[in-house]
Amino acid sequence: MAATSWKTELLLAGSWRGATSVLLTNGNHHLVVDSGMPHEAPLLIKALEQRGLKPQDIEGLICTHFHVDHVLNNSLFPHIPIYASQQAHDWACSLYSDLADDLHWEKLVLKYYPETFDYERARALMGKLRKLGLRMWHPQRIGTPEQFVWIENRPLPEGLGVHVTSGHVPGHVSVVVGNGAEPTVIAGDALLSRDREDQILTMIPYNRDQFRRDREGILAMRGRILPGHDRPFVSG
Ligand SMILES: [Zn+2]
Repeated sequence: MAATSWKTELLLAGSWRGATSVLLTNGNHHLVVDSGMPHEAPLLIKALEQRGLKPQDIEGLICTHFHVDHVLNNSLFPHIPIYASQQAHDWACSLYSDLADDLHWEKLVLKYYPETFDYERARALMGKLRKLGLRMWHPQRIGTPEQFVWIENRPLPEGLGVHVTSGHVPGHVSVVVGNGAEPTVIAGDALLSRDREDQILTMIPYNRDQFRRDREGILAMRGRILPGHDRPFVSG
């Protein structure tokens, strides 16, 4: 594969109600970054069809992180590699498992979100997101264990770079496409929105200071930015 020729297209447009899903194309090689929620499966398939593609034509998935709005259509793509951080995977599996504990979840959640009490509305918000998350979360929807390729040990396909942005969740990655002066950055939830971050209903950052630095770092790349929950824009 030629090193810098990945083309990016939106399959699902990010908004306050759903995450950005991206098709990466290099010649006749296709990858998908983030797959969305179960009810978005028909939209995702339609977006592929409009480009003459079927799920079987996709050679690999890349996950920015494992919150429910980003990974629950992974099962539409069986048998192909899923590139992700093991840290982000293990953290999320453990989070959703602990959130299912009706009696102790409020205490357990502090393991994952130690800054919860720094936020005025976090308790109420967490309860809401917990219900939403538990309704959707099924480990079989994120792919099977033999599909995972941990980016801690293996690089992404040539021409794609990993930019670790752990402020949103530990091990969160943004994907940098191209290594020229003006890259395309698939930010995931390291950058939710160009200027409406506060309107996106998502979990609070794992680490607020790091989250701020991640956002600044992405904006400083002065490229085309694909936020996790908003339309693409050019930084600079
Ligand atoms: Zn999200």
